[in-house]
Amino acid sequence: MVKKISKLLEISFPLVCTFCTSGDLLSSKIGICRKCYQSRPHSSLIGSCPVCASANPNGLCLYCSSRNVFFDKLYFIRERNIQEKEIIQKIKFKNEPYLSGYFRIGIRGIFSDIIKNYSSFRITVAPSHKKTVSGRPYHSCSSILDYARRSVTTTVEQPIEKISGELQSGKTFRERFLHARHAFRIKSEFVNRLSGNWLLVDDVFTTGASINEISRLLKENGAENVIALVMAKNL
Ligand SMILES: [Zn+2]
Ligand SMILES: [Zn+2]
Repeated sequence: MVKKISKLLEISFPLVCTFCTSGDLLSSKIGICRKCYQSRPHSSLIGSCPVCASANPNGLCLYCSSRNVFFDKLYFIRERNIQEKEIIQKIKFKNEPYLSGYFRIGIRGIFSDIIKNYSSFRITVAPSHKKTVSGRPYHSCSSILDYARRSVTTTVEQPIEKISGELQSGKTFRERFLHARHAFRIKSEFVNRLSGNWLLVDDVFTTGASINEISRLLKENGAENVIALVMAKNL
């Protein structure tokens, strides 16, 4: 019982940094100290590809110009390095949900940019298969969803469902695209009944195969623009 209570307290009041165990004001809020936070480069709106915001001197990057990309714009809170990988794992599997505060820094600027460009939108979260969700008590995108719930007047809807229980991780770049093509479907009540702009939220942009396929389905069924927002994007 005592152990249980102290575990609960740890969850509500992280005091020390999850990486170096030193404590400061930032670690008391997000579980990561200022030194560890600042040791990582972070990106938000910077970058020159007009679609995916990756650094590219010639405008459209190779990714966005080499295949049918169905999302209109991709925003990411952080570049995904080892530290971001570790934080997402800890949020998902290790009962350290307060670490999602790491992905809250900079989110306001991103939302105001989205609102400036798209005025109104509905929100959807990249769906997981039922099988994958069990055993994950916290939603890995909670930093984005909490902010959206508090600050943006819009609804969260799930017109797309995942029908494949297979995971993308462990697959090659090409396999991910082939698998994604058959991994999702539009729910029957939404077929050809979407309209307006959609903000598609996911935790990580790795190859973009899932995000692109979900965007394709949203557009095929009437969505006007699809804006993707992820916590972390691979470089
Ligand atoms: Zn630290
Ligand atoms: Zn791009």
